[in-house]
Amino acid sequence: MASETHGDVVIIGAGPAGLATGACLRARAVSFDIIEKDSTVASSWRARYERLRLHTVKRSSALPMVPFPREYPRYVPRDLLIKYLQDYAERFDLRPRFNETVRSVHRVDGRWLVKTNDGRHRARAVVVATGYSAVPYLPSIEGSECFAGPMLHSSSYVNARPFEGRSVLVVGLGNSGAEIVLDLAENGAQTTLSVRASAYLAPRDPFGVPIQQLSILSALLPSAASRPGARRARSQSSTSARLRASATKRSQSAAKSRASARKAQFSATDARSDSMLSSSPPASDQVCGSSLRRATF
Ligand SMILES: Cc1cc2nc3c(=O)[nH]c(=O)nc-3n(C[C@H](O)[C@H](O)[C@H](O)COP(=O)(O)OP(=O)(O)OC[C@H]3O[C@@H](n4cnc5c(N)ncnc54)[C@H](O)[C@@H]3O)c2cc1C
Repeated sequence: MASETHGDVVIIGAGPAGLATGACLRARAVSFDIIEKDSTVASSWRARYERLRLHTVKRSSALPMVPFPREYPRYVPRDLLIKYLQDYAERFDLRPRFNETVRSVHRVDGRWLVKTNDGRHRARAVVVATGYSAVPYLPSIEGSECFAGPMLHSSSYVNARPFEGRSVLVVGLGNSGAEIVLDLAENGAQTTLSVRASAYLAPRDPFGVPIQQLSILSALLPSAASRPGARRARSQSSTSARLRASATKRSQSAAKSRASARKAQFSATDARSDSMLSSSPPASDQVCGSSLRRATF
């Protein structure tokens, strides 16, 4: 039978944001329904690669009112995060309505009408907590049609096993790219990393202190010292001195492209030493195209 509810709030999505919103409303005795299209909480995290762990420290990553358990490591691995989110939902008795996909939201008679594949829900307010990275983006890369090997988006990457003994090019040095290239390099693949623009590399925990916390503290410095130009200069000098970072400029020629790919290989080496790597956007067609033609599986 189709479902129909009337409450104060409808929350769309049972990821971390939807669960946190539900817990805060519960604490204020506001009635709500969480609508989740999947069959579990934290479905986006379940679908991600095995090695994934938070790159933000646990102290700054917990949901409201419930710190991560003491025994959790500083950077929480995917499976423990999923367990934490499940426990969180139970603790606040959130009980999302699973397997219900929101199809439309309309304003009707001064309230919101939320229609799903399975019914309709009316509420005074709607919280859209559907995430921002659900749809993978695989850019069109010139020359990729000549490449005979498999080409996949990071969202389809599970672990390094299928790539053991193979040559793999990872395009992009964001958090996913950095962690995946490290996973591959440590598990028997020959890796190359391609980065479009310059990348600042820094140790994740210089002198044992999380760099995330240092950067939060540095934002409190007087404004003249923390102007973007000044920050950039500081960051450039420290990273290049300490880390042999690959600061690859946007390439205009094939020769430059090859050079940037070579430099990027040093980035992978740095990643192996447990560094946090901050990323440029996806690699340019030119760099990718030439690098892709060089990579073989
Ligand atoms: C590889 C990777 C690493 C990350 N690492 C970190 C990190 O270290 N620290 C950090 O803070 N963040 C990190 N993030 C960001 C991360 O996405 C967020 O922390 C978090 O998962 C976002 O939570 P969310 O609830 O907004 O969205 P999601 O977790 O994406 O949840 C959205 C939910 O909405 C549901 N939904 C979507 N559309 C509908 C619909 N129409 N009807 C019903 N339900 C719907 C989905 O099924 C899903 O369950 C990382 C992200 C990625 C991809």
